[in-house]
Amino acid sequence: MFRTKRILVTGGAGFLGSFLCESLLADGHEVICLDNFHTGARANLQHLLHNPRFEIMRHDVTLPIHAEVDEIFNLACPASPVHYQTDPVQTVKTNVHGAINVLDLARRLKVKVFQASTSEVYGDPAIHPQVESYWGNVNPIGYRACYDEGKRCAETLFFDFHRQYGVDIRVARIFNTYGPRMLPDDGRVVSNFIVQALRGAPITIYGEGQQTRSFCYVDDLIRGFRALMDAPEGVLLPVNLGNPAEFTIRQLADLVIEMTGSSSRIVHRPLPQDDPTQRRPDITRAAEQLGWQPLIPLREGLTRTIAYFDEKLTAGTPMRFM
Ligand code: NAD
Ligand code: UDP
Repeated sequence: MFRTKRILVTGGAGFLGSFLCESLLADGHEVICLDNFHTGARANLQHLLHNPRFEIMRHDVTLPIHAEVDEIFNLACPASPVHYQTDPVQTVKTNVHGAINVLDLARRLKVKVFQASTSEVYGDPAIHPQVESYWGNVNPIGYRACYDEGKRCAETLFFDFHRQYGVDIRVARIFNTYGPRMLPDDGRVVSNFIVQALRGAPITIYGEGQQTRSFCYVDDLIRGFRALMDAPEGVLLPVNLGNPAEFTIRQLADLVIEMTGSSSRIVHRPLPQDDPTQRRPDITRAAEQLGWQPLIPLREGLTRTIAYFDEKLTAGTPMRFM
């Protein structure tokens, strides 16, 4: 029988979090969005504010959390390299102290807790495509380490809380996801290229553009989150969630230029340190256990995302309010 739950979403004002809150509310649940608004925005939640089942809690996950809820999704953490490298110490704290705080809460309340982990735990992967059993290749002292190692330590905490205290955990390793409500200036490749193309500005490819990524549309990913959280206890963890269709960054740039009809030219900029050369999820585990697979191909997802940014830019919406 369907039961409405009170669900805590940390990082709920961010790109993925706002879609998750929306999806949970649409199913009749009560949602508490906990966020410190570091990279999130009220604008992402504007359309949910009228809903009496929706609540915002301005709070930092690095501090203990007091709430009475039936489930917890932990998404709080800046996801773009530009943002997570601005204050790397805070990024580590958000990941590690944040994980401890949500796990302590889940343990006290005896509720399920979901961790938004990342393909970055595989670092610059030597195994391709990446399977969950691969331990990764991460530089522990590089510029990306605050995020990669922070997320790895968070996974450690999740599995230790499960083994030591019996907490029911769900860990998703999320691969590059895109869609409306990405910040236009956060440096991620899809939003960067679309905004550059729509403005007729140069498209900035870092390095030669031969590095690959696999891009998942946000709706597909959120369906995966929900399926993993609702799966029976004992599901084999962690679970990769992403779209296995792999593209070079050069291919992405060409596609965005073609789809926007832009006159932008391509320029090359230095490749950031430790930039992974290839990335593609093996999603066999998600398919077998959750019956999940992405349905929206890149071209279709880009059409929706381009339309979103086009509308914002045409309306002259200041970047910080997008
Ligand atoms: P985002 O930056 O849009 O959202 C993160 C949210 O967390 C923001 O609302 C931000 O204000 C909030 N936040 C950050 N630090 C906080 C803190 N200390 N306390 C409370 N709130 C805090 O990023 P996103 O793309 O929505 O990513 C959400 C989660 O998914 C992150 O944990 C990220 O690591 C993970 N993830 C995302 C992707 C992706 O492609 N988008 C890929 C892998 C993993
Ligand atoms: N990238 C690029 N131009 C940009 C932004 C990013 O060529 O304007 C590259 C970046 O070097 C990386 C890939 O695109 O190889 C994906 O970058 P993003 O920051 O979106 O995600 P991540 O590196 O975390 O996978």
